[in-house]
Amino acid sequence: MAEVRLERISKAYGNVQILRDIDLDIAHGEFVVFVGPSGSGKSTLLRMIGGLERISDGRLLIDNRIVNNIDASERNLGMVFQSYALYPHMTVRQNLAFPLRMAKASAEEIEAKVKEAAALLQVDHLLDRKPRQLSGGQRQRVAIGRAIVREPKVFLFDEPLSNLDTELRVQMRVQIAKLHKQLGNTMIYVTHDQVEAMTMADKIVVLKDGNIEQVGTPHDLYHKPASQFVAGFIGSPKMNFLDATIVSAHQDRVEVRLETGVTVSLPVDADAQAVGKHVTLGIRPDDFRAPADSEDDLLVELDVDFVEHLGNATYLYGNAGAASLVARAPGLTAAGRVEKIGLAVAPSDCHLFLPNGKALRRLRAPTSWN
Ligand code: ADP
Repeated sequence: MAEVRLERISKAYGNVQILRDIDLDIAHGEFVVFVGPSGSGKSTLLRMIGGLERISDGRLLIDNRIVNNIDASERNLGMVFQSYALYPHMTVRQNLAFPLRMAKASAEEIEAKVKEAAALLQVDHLLDRKPRQLSGGQRQRVAIGRAIVREPKVFLFDEPLSNLDTELRVQMRVQIAKLHKQLGNTMIYVTHDQVEAMTMADKIVVLKDGNIEQVGTPHDLYHKPASQFVAGFIGSPKMNFLDATIVSAHQDRVEVRLETGVTVSLPVDADAQAVGKHVTLGIRPDDFRAPADSEDDLLVELDVDFVEHLGNATYLYGNAGAASLVARAPGLTAAGRVEKIGLAVAPSDCHLFLPNGKALRRLRAPTSWN
């Protein structure tokens, strides 16, 4: 196990700045996921931690030791990439043994560790096969096993499940999360998939254009997104965004008017917010409920043009005034035509974003916590 600390880490290729002043603390045994759209700098950040990419500026510490200029092989890390990078001419056993042979381990030690890793990853019945005789999921398990045998302080994963089909991805996601529980190592995992991030991470780091947008637990990012970007990135279907205008601002609430003329008073921190400002109201599809629960609710009349029945939930797609919306139907609507439906949202379930994308802090717990 190890602690990893990034202090004002930057990366530039020539004149092009890729990452700027990244500060981050990763605790012993923590599972941290870097998530963000393609090109946001996730892999570059991971590769700098791994010693595969030079750090342009700032300090990287592993267990309180500055490792900027320490060779990758000396950092005691286990790396797993999207491409499995197994040796095709070697059997699974030989692939697993390879890092230990390079480290000049004894034959007994090699046998014991290969056996242990193979059992942990359930590839013990495949030890005499070559990589081409394995499925994608099995190959990725061997690649993880090869990282495990050297008992690294920190595991680095770079999109390890991207080459697998959906069903296998879900299985492997669970396996890696279980592995983390069993081994207790510090793990840093890069993905563009917010579902992977939400299901596996203790802590998620959302990157955008080479900057950290927000760091938090999956719960924090979902319920307290710091920006419209994070709000839209985390959660599926995506949060709905509606144009609104602030009509009055008080210490503990802000009244906004939607384009349809409807007004709603929201319990958000309104410090220094000007009346008349154009803002964005955010509503998660799951936060719609049946009208009449409370007179403070925001009421929305949805013209439905498409209904998605998932069995355990029904999503309604349509328009409310000029805005396109998706709403999880309160209760399950029977398969059939729905043309118009009245929906309500509790003010405490709404999010409000300023023109610069920053979220106004919500002052009341969402209704789902009650
Ligand atoms: P992500 O992993 O989030 O998709 P990357 O870390 O791979 O993002 O890349 C971040 C940015 O750095 C991208 O704009 C990419 O084009 C750029 N980049 C990556 N590697 C190089 C390189 N060797 N030379 C120049 N630019 C690079």
